[in-house]
Amino acid sequence: MHRPLIGLTCHAWPGEILRSAVGQRYVDAIAVCGAAPISIPIGLERSAQRRIFEVLDGLFLPGGDDVGPERYGHTPHAMLGNVDPLRDELEITMAQWALQEDLPLLGICRGAQVVAVAAGGTLYQDIDDQLPAGLPHDVREHGREHLSHSVAVEPGSRLCAAIGCTTSTVNSLHHQAVRDVPAGFVVSARSEDGIIEAIEAPSKRFAVGVQCHPEWIWASSAPEYHGLFAAFVDAAAFRAATRAA
Ligand code: MN
Repeated sequence: MHRPLIGLTCHAWPGEILRSAVGQRYVDAIAVCGAAPISIPIGLERSAQRRIFEVLDGLFLPGGDDVGPERYGHTPHAMLGNVDPLRDELEITMAQWALQEDLPLLGICRGAQVVAVAAGGTLYQDIDDQLPAGLPHDVREHGREHLSHSVAVEPGSRLCAAIGCTTSTVNSLHHQAVRDVPAGFVVSARSEDGIIEAIEAPSKRFAVGVQCHPEWIWASSAPEYHGLFAAFVDAAAFRAATRAA
């Protein structure tokens, strides 16, 4: 079977020379599962975005900065972090196309939030301020691989099938989270304090967003997350095979 072509959206890498960049961890995690990853730069016109989208077998939305709250009808909170309107536009556009056309879609951290917003959901802009009684979710002082809280995974969900378990302990590197789950989506994992840690669209071939960063832990402390990348790449491979047929 041919390797499915999976597009990863870039973020702006500012400096003397502006670059469109994508984290190598994401690339490696899906390449090892059989994908042919390609990066999608920011700043393209809609027609160029569409041309790229049309050759994809799957869409991968990586982690990153905050989504602009105007994208879900909210005003900026005092703790809102960096926002990049070009990246929001690229990712929300592509995620909406993916959902409309049932292209396999995986979002990680910010990517899960983009999936929610693209489908009509909303976000908490700062968990600590808006839900102060909960667990710490932006835990960076022990490194990105540190497992900081458990999640309860919904039995029977796509996520559960992919990782093969109903509880999991994960890293947590986010200060925002999904607030209102969009129509067509369900919650497939929560942390003990009730924060939404994964969403998915049951009617789609594969449309999943997870709030943790499995690209840092699948090869070490949380091997079950290899199954998430593998399930996504398998869905994209199936799409590629059925398209070719
Ligand atoms: Mn968390």
